[in-house]
Amino acid sequence: MTSLLDSLMPATSGPEGLSVEQARRLMLDHLAPVTGVERLFVRQALDRVLAADVISPLDVPAHDNSAMDGWAVRHADLAADGETRLKIVGTAFAGRAFEGKLGAGEAVRIMTGAVLPPGADVVVVQEVARSEGDAVIIPPGQRREQNVRRAGEDLRTGSPAITAGKRLRPAELGLIASLGLAEVSVRRRVRVALFSTGDELRSLGEPLAAGMIYDSNRYTLWGMLTRLGCEVLDMGVIRDEPAALEAAMRTAAASCDAIITSGGVSVGEADFIKQLMQQLGEVAFWKIAMKPGRPMAFGRLQPEGKAGPAAWLFGLPGNPVAVMVTFYQFVRPALLKLAGVDPLPPFPALPARLAEPLRKGRERTEFYRGVLFEQEGQWWVRPTGAQGSGILRSMSAADCFIVLEPGREKVGVGETVNVQLMNGLV
Ligand code: AMP
Ligand code: MG
Repeated sequence: MTSLLDSLMPATSGPEGLSVEQARRLMLDHLAPVTGVERLFVRQALDRVLAADVISPLDVPAHDNSAMDGWAVRHADLAADGETRLKIVGTAFAGRAFEGKLGAGEAVRIMTGAVLPPGADVVVVQEVARSEGDAVIIPPGQRREQNVRRAGEDLRTGSPAITAGKRLRPAELGLIASLGLAEVSVRRRVRVALFSTGDELRSLGEPLAAGMIYDSNRYTLWGMLTRLGCEVLDMGVIRDEPAALEAAMRTAAASCDAIITSGGVSVGEADFIKQLMQQLGEVAFWKIAMKPGRPMAFGRLQPEGKAGPAAWLFGLPGNPVAVMVTFYQFVRPALLKLAGVDPLPPFPALPARLAEPLRKGRERTEFYRGVLFEQEGQWWVRPTGAQGSGILRSMSAADCFIVLEPGREKVGVGETVNVQLMNGLV
């Protein structure tokens, strides 16, 4: 039997390491959604993932009704090649139907959303008709069923209105409410533990001695995880000490579905972090053909005595920009899969023209941070200045990633590049 670790090591990878796409696939192939389900009131379910299909308890619309303000008439009464004069017999308002049936030669004044009187099969918009006393004159050329919404035309009773796996947006909250449903079943939130590693890291409120830096990764990670709807267990900064790291990993694995660490996975790093991860679980150390974010660990930890599934481990690099890039490219889709989102949302890359020349390593994917702007009806993108993977300001200034694929080396002004919009992603 192949172990998880074998399956995490693909047979083919270039000298620069796994491609971004390969790494994403490998990761996603192993993950299965968390199983707990809870019932929530509609408003509390915003951004949560539907656990079971929402079945419509009624026909939508519930009655035949008018899509426009106008006149409800019978198609059979209308002359094909001239005007038709019909007798006005009443009015149908939204919420107050016309009592009775439409007879031959009759018309009912009707408002948008009003129930269509039995017998009517056309609504003529008010702009084309004219009334004279108790009669209305209809021009020729009206089509049967025009401006008529039939009962059940959007949804039939018993049919699925929203399928399981959908992450609920405002549109779905409205749709659920339109069916008269007050509660829905959603999957429980994914629980994620996170900690930073590094002897140089200080937490907010601590003085900064020479050579020390403030820990920013826990803040970006907290923000990204919260936006994704995860339950976050922030375990603080852990020193580069085997005993402390082991204790943190065991605690995290015991109570969470996933663990995110930052720092300590690059080449030349104090080796015990890798050793420890390997000793406690099955973890592959990936070299990914990308910049920033080349080193990354992925695997799972199953502490002894823990019932249920193992915790997934994402060992991200330490550099603040690399943390964000690897999170969006790998961890975000992985956590959405754990959350039960199905199908996973597309990750569209849109074309834009490059406003400043860029150079990159030929074999890898590079993620520049960019700003989009419009000029003469075209979208252009310019990089946000210095792109060092420690420069968080380049992320803050950006509204998109410029994705430069393998095979490209020098990209000139005016060339088309793909951008991933941060709006919607972040
Ligand atoms: P490492 O992968 O641990 O060698 O870290 C790479 C770089 O990222 C080093 O310059 C670290 O100081 C920096 N770094 C690591 N963790 C953090 C953090 N939590 N916040 C800010 N910078 C960090
Ligand atoms: Mg470190």
